[in-house]
Amino acid sequence: MKKISVVLAAIFVFSLALTGCGSKGGKFVTIGTGGVTGVYYPTGGAISKMINAKSKEYSIRASVESTGGSVYNINAVVGGDLEFGIAQSDRQFQAVKGLAEWKDKGPQSKLRSVFSIHPEALTLVASVKSGIKTIKDLKGKKVNLGNPGSGQLQNSKDALSAFGLDEKSVKAEYIKAVEAAGLLQDEKIDAFFYTVGHPNGSIKEATSGRIKVRLVDIAGKELDGLISKYPYYARALIEIKNYPSAANKKDVNTLGVKATLVTSSDVSADVVYAITKEVFENLDKFKELHPAYSVLTKQNMLEGLSAPVHPGAAKYYKEAGLDKYIKPELLK
Ligand code: GLU
Repeated sequence: MKKISVVLAAIFVFSLALTGCGSKGGKFVTIGTGGVTGVYYPTGGAISKMINAKSKEYSIRASVESTGGSVYNINAVVGGDLEFGIAQSDRQFQAVKGLAEWKDKGPQSKLRSVFSIHPEALTLVASVKSGIKTIKDLKGKKVNLGNPGSGQLQNSKDALSAFGLDEKSVKAEYIKAVEAAGLLQDEKIDAFFYTVGHPNGSIKEATSGRIKVRLVDIAGKELDGLISKYPYYARALIEIKNYPSAANKKDVNTLGVKATLVTSSDVSADVVYAITKEVFENLDKFKELHPAYSVLTKQNMLEGLSAPVHPGAAKYYKEAGLDKYIKPELLK
């Protein structure tokens, strides 16, 4: 009996602590990210850190959730299960237009953009033993294309199709990126795709294990069509110095997109304003939180957006004179 009451008292105190800022009219917000060995997860942490440092001023507490990735995050944000999510710029574009995963559901009219973050590269990792040296060599191999809910699933399909391959030309797996490095090292798969910022824990894990692993180029004139057809794809480079244990020693050419922060039109302007302001006003501090942010500028963080900018974020951009960097149609 005594034990139970102690436990109950502890729960009571804990819930008081949790609702502490709730009782003063504060808000809890959750940011949907990705696998813990990716860059979205620490990015959610970095954004939370900025706003939580000012929890007294704003009465907002942010926390992070590990999820299946971009598509999951967009759906959870639009559905009201998460207040914020990190999503690839290409998936944001497709959700707004009702393409790809949103073809049947149609345009996601509640989706709002906040800002864009680090560049992400479509990363193809293969065991040396598999003999995969170009994307065309994936034919007949066991390849992880990405879990449903991830951003990379559509990117891997797009890349395969540019080279005349498809899901059926490979032995396709649909596993979460967080598991892929281990499966490659255990020789359960020959290769995997991951759209991700660099450096990251997954590619480090994949390249520093028992078996030799290389990062494979996704390059050539075959990509011209894809890049001209889809405005969100650009050529990108992965610096191999990030992965000294990889078998290849040259930088890797591939396709790139951007990570972006998204929210819903149902999320209050105060919350979005506060998060936007804290990240932008403390950008130098923010950039120290992950090496993938080294290229960030206030201007390029407003590029690559497709969804209307949330009014709370727009308020800050206008105050700060940054609205001139945003496509006017996104500020209506
Ligand atoms: N780009 C991946 C996705 O959308 C996630 C990458 C990461 O977690 O850093 O699923």
